[in-house]
Amino acid sequence: MKRSESPSPQSVIREDIRALAAYTVHPAQGMVKLDAMENPYGLPGWLREELARAVAGAQINRYPDPEAPALKALLRRTMDLPQGFDILLGNGSDEIIAMVISAVARPGAVVMAPTPAFAMYRMSAILAKAEFVGVPLAPDFSLDAQSMLAAMQERRPGVVFVAYPNNPTGNLFDEAAVCRVIEAAPGLVVLDEAYHVFAGRSFMSRLREYPNLLVLRTLSKLGLAGLRLGYAVAQSDWIREIDKVRGPYNVGVLTQAVAQAILEHAQVLQEQAAAIRVERERLFAELRRLPGVEVFPSEANFLLLRVPDAEAAFQGLLARGVLVRNLHGSHPLLDQCLRFTVGTPSENALLLAAFCEVRAG
Ligand code: PMP
Repeated sequence: MKRSESPSPQSVIREDIRALAAYTVHPAQGMVKLDAMENPYGLPGWLREELARAVAGAQINRYPDPEAPALKALLRRTMDLPQGFDILLGNGSDEIIAMVISAVARPGAVVMAPTPAFAMYRMSAILAKAEFVGVPLAPDFSLDAQSMLAAMQERRPGVVFVAYPNNPTGNLFDEAAVCRVIEAAPGLVVLDEAYHVFAGRSFMSRLREYPNLLVLRTLSKLGLAGLRLGYAVAQSDWIREIDKVRGPYNVGVLTQAVAQAILEHAQVLQEQAAAIRVERERLFAELRRLPGVEVFPSEANFLLLRVPDAEAAFQGLLARGVLVRNLHGSHPLLDQCLRFTVGTPSENALLLAAFCEVRAG
């Protein structure tokens, strides 16, 4: 018998999920793609051939080894991870953010971060039915340790996320201010070091000092965004609990095989990161010369700038084939702000030329 009314999403999907806007990714076909902080350089031909061999030899009829010991050993060696701490792998660091939040999301749990911050801290908190509390940065985007301490005292967050360098502002917070937050936090502190290769600074060596610290990294910004591999490093008692949230085979055979083949040559990615840092400084200097444009110092692979009319600049760049991110409206501190990924020298030249045209009207 045919039913008169079939079940609809409205009848079963959670109200808070229906009220959410999905994470939007702008179509980028044929564009100079400077919206997602990717590494613009591909891999050299000889390394691609090694990847082809690694893929050809992968056992895709088998589930992956969830422990991935060879990959973890390689990460330890190539990413200077300290001995005596455990590693958790994720399908991108996005997945690890969600795992950490799910693990702490007791009824009434609070997830805290200085804001503006990476959007997935809030999104994952909502999905896990935890409350997200953003503590505004100072207007110069520095970490307001006083406000963070007061907010932590009042709201007792299960986890505090601090991105180091921060996305979308690009700056590194003062190390002493971050330490004050870690020392005063009533729970776990995740230092999200997605952009650490562009900053040369890290809290990894301070894990021993702070038992409630978890350092989160990703290979995405280093040049492997398409692979989806993130990792967290912390004391084993934290990793053991968070690991229970992980799906049984979250990092596939191909991701493991390809990551291993590339990490054997990690210097290729490190050299690309060094080239991006040089380009960042050049682009910063060029943009700073433009009247009416405020460019903020960045230790990441992107630049944040304030213009008189962000939407007009965004649309003007789009019309000229350059895709950037318009952050206006996402946070009061990001009024009229755009974010540009640092591209190759030729992409940056196109960006600058298009930007000058747009400004000339
Ligand atoms: N953390 C920060 C601060 C980010 O900016 C991003 C990506 N934009 C991520 C984590 C997630 O990266 P992925 O899932 O690619 O590892």
